[in-house]
Amino acid sequence: LSKLSGKIWLDGELVPWEEARVHVLTHTFHYGLGCFEGVRAYDTPDLGPCIFRLKEHTERLFRSAKILQMDMPWDQDTLNAAQREVVRVNGLTEGYLRPMCFLGSEGMGLRADNLKTHVMIAAWPWPSYMDPEARNRGIKVRTSSYTRHHVNITMCKAKANGNYINSILALREAIDSGCEEALLLDNEGYVAEGSGENVFMVRNGTIYTPELTSCLEGITRDSIFQIAAREGYTIRERRITRDEFYVADEAFFTGTAAEVVPIRELDGRTIGSGSRGPITEQLQGIYFESVRGGQPDYANWLAPVSG
Ligand code: PMP
Repeated sequence: LSKLSGKIWLDGELVPWEEARVHVLTHTFHYGLGCFEGVRAYDTPDLGPCIFRLKEHTERLFRSAKILQMDMPWDQDTLNAAQREVVRVNGLTEGYLRPMCFLGSEGMGLRADNLKTHVMIAAWPWPSYMDPEARNRGIKVRTSSYTRHHVNITMCKAKANGNYINSILALREAIDSGCEEALLLDNEGYVAEGSGENVFMVRNGTIYTPELTSCLEGITRDSIFQIAAREGYTIRERRITRDEFYVADEAFFTGTAAEVVPIRELDGRTIGSGSRGPITEQLQGIYFESVRGGQPDYANWLAPVSG
C-alpha cells in the first residue's frame, strides 16, 4: 500500500502518496485513540463512480469523534467533498476509502490535551475483501476465544482505532484454525459481531440480528434492514446465542469491506444447506445491484464523485 502512487488528503491538502507521513510521536500511534471509517466507491452506468452512503459514513465518523472527545477541525460537508475529490483525483472508478481522525504529535501523555485532531483520507482499489468465491459458497467461521468489547471499556459505538486490536486478535485466531472469519461474543456470552462485520441469521423466514449493544452500528446492516423490509421480511433485533446460529437456516455477515457474505459453517456445524441460503442470496443480490446503481429505489444511497 505504501508503494501506491496518487494523492492523499491530509489536513485540507492533497499530498503526494509517499509524502503523506506522520511523526513517530503521533499520539494515536501510541495509544490508539482515534477514529476512522471504511467506505466504498462503486462504478455506476448512469452516474459514473459513486461513493456508497457517503453521508452516513461521515455522520458516523463525527459521532465517533464526539464519543472520543476529539475536536473536529472540519465540517461534514467539507469531508464529504474531500472524499469525492480523493476518488476523482486518483482516477478510481471503484475502490475503498479510508478517512481517519487522529491526534497529532503536538504532545504526549494520557491527558491528551493541547492536541490537534488531524484528518486524512486515502483511497485505493480494493476489489473484494473476501475471496470472491466466498460470496457464493459462504465462509467457515469460528466463535472467538476473545470477548467483544464490554460496553464500558472502550466505546463500541465509536469506530475507534484501538478497538481493532480485539478484531485482529480474533481474526488471526480464526484464520489460524482454518476458518475465514471470527464470530465474537459479548461479555455476557451472546453473539455480538464479526471482526469487521455485523452478523445476521435466518430462521423460518424471519431474519434476526443482535441488538446494537456490543456491536458497531453498521451501515451495511442498515442497508440490509431497508432492503429486507421492502422485500417483506421481518427483522428482529434481539440477543442471540451461538447455538441459535448452529441451527439457523441461513447466516451471513455484512460490512462495507466484506459486503454481504454467507456463513456456511460455524464451529464445525454446517449452517442450513452448507452454502448460501435463498434469503441471503436475494438480499445480497439486491445489495450488489444497489451499490452499482441498479436499484432506483436506493438511488439516494449513491454520491457521485463528479458534480
Ligand atoms: N462491525 C465492525 C467491528 C466493523 O469494523 C464494521 C466495519 N466498519 C462493521 C461492523 C460493519 O459496518 P459497516 O457496514 O458500516 O461497514
